[in-house]
Amino acid sequence: MVKICCIGAGYVGGPTMAVIALKCPSIEVVVVDISVNRINSWNSDQLPIYEPGLDDVVKECRGRNLFFSTDVEKHVYEADIIFVSVNTPTKTRGLGAGKAADLTYWESAAWMIADVSKSDKIVVEKSTVPVKTAEAIEKILNHNSKGIHFSILSNPEFLAEGTAIQDLLKPDRVLIGGRETPEGQKAVQALKEVYAHWVPEDRIIISNLWSAELAKLVANAFLAQRISSVNAVSALCEATGADVTEVAYSVGKDSRIGPKFLNASVGFGGSCFQKDILNLVYICESNGLAEVANYWKQVIKINDYQKNRFVNRVVSSMFNTVSGKKIAVLGFAFKKDTGDTRETPAIDVCKGLLGDNATISIYDPRVTEDQIQRDLAMNKFDWDHPIHLQSLSPTSVKKVRVTWDAYEAANGAHGVCILTEWDEFKQLDYQRIYDNMQKPAFIFDGRNVIDPEKLREIGFIVYSIGRPLNP
Ligand code: NAD
Repeated sequence: MVKICCIGAGYVGGPTMAVIALKCPSIEVVVVDISVNRINSWNSDQLPIYEPGLDDVVKECRGRNLFFSTDVEKHVYEADIIFVSVNTPTKTRGLGAGKAADLTYWESAAWMIADVSKSDKIVVEKSTVPVKTAEAIEKILNHNSKGIHFSILSNPEFLAEGTAIQDLLKPDRVLIGGRETPEGQKAVQALKEVYAHWVPEDRIIISNLWSAELAKLVANAFLAQRISSVNAVSALCEATGADVTEVAYSVGKDSRIGPKFLNASVGFGGSCFQKDILNLVYICESNGLAEVANYWKQVIKINDYQKNRFVNRVVSSMFNTVSGKKIAVLGFAFKKDTGDTRETPAIDVCKGLLGDNATISIYDPRVTEDQIQRDLAMNKFDWDHPIHLQSLSPTSVKKVRVTWDAYEAANGAHGVCILTEWDEFKQLDYQRIYDNMQKPAFIFDGRNVIDPEKLREIGFIVYSIGRPLNP
């Protein structure tokens, strides 16, 4: 029986391994992590992450051929194929701070693999890493005196949080990059056989190692770039009276462009887009490609601009100050169908409003109060000026309340900001919300989820991103 071990039981390691276990009953899959809490959650009914469909897959496989463990070394020792799916955040200090990927977790995993292994193994980069990382990993793993050989593959993950299980069950593509040596190609075939249990042959792409590593960074950069492009257009729409939803619809009908990722919003978030673009910027700069680096930097600059623009719009609409006013924030996760708040635009928006002395009440169906308070207390890293910015003062923290439903959040509020496109926000009784708010009642739709005309009929003063302002 083939044994797989995955190091890192996070948003990627957990769901990807659960789906491999589901589709390959003949393979034993063990997901290991240094976090005891995370592993305990994976072994309980309260999984550590929310992802539609994940519970069912885990329930079906756990204890059959899917296991979660903190005994990292034992399972690495026993495995034939080791996926490494540890976090690769942006470096916060030292060379490349604010841009380069921090490979500390990856490197310590590689040293541990080299240390405990006693037989040849395939090591798969599942984490998103800078191009050429495999070269460094090979040095760590293959310069051993044990006479064992490690084949390094790049198999980046393209799942999106919120649709991870569907993405894994029916991937657009699976990408496997390996060395062109006989051992490298043998390893590629072994990994391909795992995916071939459910992924059609024409969706499995084989490439060289560096192409696979780079393709993941480029894919995320392209996705983020589309969002920044439509967000840049949204500012122009507001200035001219055009409607960004109509512009994006017409543009997206062009089959060369397509309709996806053309929704204007308060900005992109999540743990990957900004981090991976920064990584790309750093790689370009390290290779003397300053102009190319500047091109990608602009995607992040527009994203920051969009978040600031939103805050400024809220403040300027509410008679140029939100001091002492209550603002309800609906949605804190960086997108719907996830509880993940890493890099969510809601953090910047809330901090902006608190900076103008507002009181805010937040409701999100999947994010806990602890998480929100932790996120708001966190320092934000400024990548252009790598110094830690001020975190929230204790007085500001008192101005944040987290509620259990949207109506309670909006009760007595002067304004409502919709920051996540949760489906339930489309179904709310906005008349009831309006009736219980201060007047004039403002609503700022940062995701364009509600028909602005319906809200205006109720009596709200409405701002929707990139759409005509109260005509
Ligand atoms: P995560 O933080 O949720 O999970 C990483 C896990 O690795 C943590 O639980 C951590 O405790 C564990 N870990 C770190 N060092 C370890 C070690 N030495 N031994 C054992 N466990 C260790 O991160 P994630 O969101 O799952 O992302 C993982 C990687 O996948 C990143 O490189 C990310 O860029 C990439 N990725 C993420 C997504 C996404 O949507 N989250 C999508 C595609 C790719």
